[in-house]
Amino acid sequence: MHEFKYRDHKLFCESVDLRELAGRHGTPCYVYSAGTIRENYRRLAQSLEGLNVRICYAMKANSNLAVLRLFSKLGASFDLVSGGEIRRVLKAGGDIGTSVFAGVGKTSEEIELALRNGVFSFHVESEPELERIDRIAGKLKLKAPVAVRVNPDVDAGTHAKITTGKSENKFGIPFDRAPDVYRLAANLKNVEIRGVQIHIGSQITKTEPFVAAIEKMRPLVEKLKAQYGITYFSIGGGLGIAYDEALASGDPAWWERVDGGKNLLTPERYGRAVVPLLKDLGLEILLEPGRFMVGNAGVLLTRVEHVKRAPDRNFVVVDAAMNDLLRPAMYEAFHEIVPVAENEARITADVVGPICETGDCFAKRRELTGAGEGDVLAVFSAGAYGYVMAGRYNTRPMPSEVLVDGDRAAEVTARETFAQMVANEKIPDFL
Ligand SMILES: *Cc1c(COP(=O)(O)O)cnc(C)c1O
Repeated sequence: MHEFKYRDHKLFCESVDLRELAGRHGTPCYVYSAGTIRENYRRLAQSLEGLNVRICYAMKANSNLAVLRLFSKLGASFDLVSGGEIRRVLKAGGDIGTSVFAGVGKTSEEIELALRNGVFSFHVESEPELERIDRIAGKLKLKAPVAVRVNPDVDAGTHAKITTGKSENKFGIPFDRAPDVYRLAANLKNVEIRGVQIHIGSQITKTEPFVAAIEKMRPLVEKLKAQYGITYFSIGGGLGIAYDEALASGDPAWWERVDGGKNLLTPERYGRAVVPLLKDLGLEILLEPGRFMVGNAGVLLTRVEHVKRAPDRNFVVVDAAMNDLLRPAMYEAFHEIVPVAENEARITADVVGPICETGDCFAKRRELTGAGEGDVLAVFSAGAYGYVMAGRYNTRPMPSEVLVDGDRAAEVTARETFAQMVANEKIPDFL
């Protein structure tokens, strides 16, 4: 569900005309809908009614300060993966004391920063990490709250680069070894066992993998509660969104039509599947959704530079590239592409960026309308793992970001200047 809709052949984000917005802020430009994010948060929270739930937004999906402020105002906590993310939450006025710190490679500095800011819990991925946390907590004369990330070894049925819950993945402690690691934690003086955690992958569009993982974990979770008095079970994130027909998915009737057929995940379907498995555990349930919260709440606006016609293939060359939105090149991801102003012109073409890489391609043999030179296109479902994965390849500046709320729009990240791009570079004297 999202708030990007056509009115009279013009694409709006809430009450803002996206062609006018592109004219004002330039392209490439990410645009986010605050209303969509609020609605996603509300729906997910509501679908888990009956549980004692805390939603820790996985901010790596979109860590813009304005987006973090919005989540903070909604009452969300955060799933953090770096010292930089801790600092972002502090800067946005969010609460570290209810947030969790995840990741396989936490440095000593990051652990210290999290401890000093009173992080709610560390999600521990290995024994050496546990011992390091114990050492640093001892030095600071603090007790470090921890949960062990257990790898339940279930197949999330998603892309190989984003599956995390199989035994061959680098994430978590193998299921059978979890009791040993909890025993180790119990023997460390400066850690306090607080919970247990799983996260099986990303862009999961069926309920079955979530159900399988929770069912497998239940006996262990009950044992940990009895033995160590854990107070929470984090069931991770990974809820998938609609990438195909992303435009149509903004229409509630579309979900009714595909319901059952495509088995796409809605928060309601997710809630119906997991709540019965969790509600009698007597534990706080943490959720760490990233993509679901923001994915469909953002688009990337890009302008057509050239239309290049060749005998066997057409190319629509746009001013965004793989450095701005990496997902198609990295995950072979599908993104729907539509014009911000519809017209009669039609073309079947590859939509490509200007970078000299075959992978710099957003779509192959796509049927497009309103994609002539100078026209603006919206690349859908770009709110998650979009701007945060952008870079400067080809000395292209980081794009801008705009947040829309009703009829208001504010630039929340300015387009990078050339001076900013080269600010940290130096030519040494000996040259
Ligand atoms: C990335 C990640 C998430 C969020 O994943 P989404 O698919 O964006 O919901 C949650 N928890 C952990 C531990 C992660 O690494």
